[in-house]
Amino acid sequence: MRFDTRLVHVGQEPPAGTGDLVPPLHLASTYERDVQDPLRWFYARGENPTREGLERCLAALEDVRFASVFSSGQAAGATALAVLARQRVIVSDDVYGGTHSLMGTLADRGVEVRYEDLADPEVVAAVFADDAAAGALVWVETPTNPLLKVVDLAEVSRRAHAVGAVVLVDNTLAGPVLQQPLRHGADVTLYSTTKSVAGHLDVLGGALVHDREDLHEAFTAHRTAVGNVPGPFDCFLVHRGLKTLSLRTRCQVATTGLVVEALCGSPAVSEVRYPGLPGHPGHAVAARQMTGFGSLVSFRYRGDVDALLRRTRLFANAVSLGGVRSLAQCPAATTHRPVPPEVRARLGITDDLVRVSVGIEDPEDLLDDLERAFRTT
Ligand SMILES: *Cc1c(COP(=O)(O)O)cnc(C)c1O
Repeated sequence: MRFDTRLVHVGQEPPAGTGDLVPPLHLASTYERDVQDPLRWFYARGENPTREGLERCLAALEDVRFASVFSSGQAAGATALAVLARQRVIVSDDVYGGTHSLMGTLADRGVEVRYEDLADPEVVAAVFADDAAAGALVWVETPTNPLLKVVDLAEVSRRAHAVGAVVLVDNTLAGPVLQQPLRHGADVTLYSTTKSVAGHLDVLGGALVHDREDLHEAFTAHRTAVGNVPGPFDCFLVHRGLKTLSLRTRCQVATTGLVVEALCGSPAVSEVRYPGLPGHPGHAVAARQMTGFGSLVSFRYRGDVDALLRRTRLFANAVSLGGVRSLAQCPAATTHRPVPPEVRARLGITDDLVRVSVGIEDPEDLLDDLERAFRTT
C-alpha cells in the first residue's frame, strides 16, 4: 500500500460483524476480562482500540512499527523528555515557543539544556566534535519556527549517532507528507497532531513515531503511569483529519508558493523567509530532504504589524499552523513570548516579523486579502 492509500486504510479495517467503514468510537474506560481470549484489553489509560487504530496509521505513514499518541504535542514532548533526557539536551535554537517552556521544566531535574544553531554546518560539526554531546538527546526542528531555517537531518543524525546521542525531530511543521525524519536517520519523530495531521483546528493531540521496541515500551509505560493519553473522540478526530492530509498538504504547498511570490513582490515587505526560495540558505538541504517546502512563511513588514493583522479578513490573527484556515500572527507577541527577549532579539524574532500559515481557501481570495491589507498602509 502506498502512502495516500495508507492514510485512508491502515487502522481503519472494518470490524467483523458490522463492516463499519469508519473506525468505531470505543468509549469504555474498562473491559470485561472473562470474555477476552487472549486477554488484551485491561483499562483505557493503557489500551483503547480507537487510539490504537490511529497509532497503527501514524506508524505506517513512516514505514515503522511504533507510534504512541498523547493528549497534546506538549504531552508527547514531556514523555519523550522523561524517557530520553538524561544529562544533556541539545536543542535547535529556533524552535516552537512551547518547546522553550518544556525545556524549562528540565532545569529542576538538573538536566543541562543547550540551544545551538543546528542549521549551521560548522556549529553542527563543533557540537558533536567532543564528548560533551555523548549520550545527549538532540531535539531538532526543521524547518524551524518561525524563522524557517533548515537543519540537515542526515548530517545531524550521523554525527549524533557517532557520539551515542539520540535524535528526536519535531516534524510538526512539515508533517509526514513532506518530510519523514526517520528516513534521514533520526530516531524519533514527534508530532503535534493538533496542527496539519488533524488539520481542522478542532482537537489537540501529539504523537511519537519510531522503530525501536525499547523506546516503545518506555514511552507507553510512562504514558500509562502519568496518564497523558488522548480521549477516544480526540483520536477519532485526528484519524479522520489524517485521511485528507495528503490532499490538504499538496493544496497548501501550492498556494503557499503563490503567497510567497506576492510577498516577494511587495514593497511593504523587507524580507521573506521560505525554504522554497532559491536564495534561502537552507534551500538545497530542504530540496533534498523534503518533497515540498511547506505551508508556513515568515516575512518582515515595514509598517505597523498590528494594523496589518487587523486589516486581513481571511488570514485570522491566531496562533497554530497547518490547518485548513489561513492564519497570520506576530510570533514575538504570541507563540514566542516564552522565549527570553534577548534570545528573541539575537535570533531575529522581532516585532516586525509576521508568520503566515496558509490554509486551503481559494488562492485568489487569499492573494486579494493580502493585497488589500498591504494597500491600505
Ligand atoms: C503546536 C506545536 C507543538 C505543541 O503541540 P500542542 O499540541 O499544542 O501541545 C510542538 N511543536 C510544534 C512545532 C508546534 O507547532
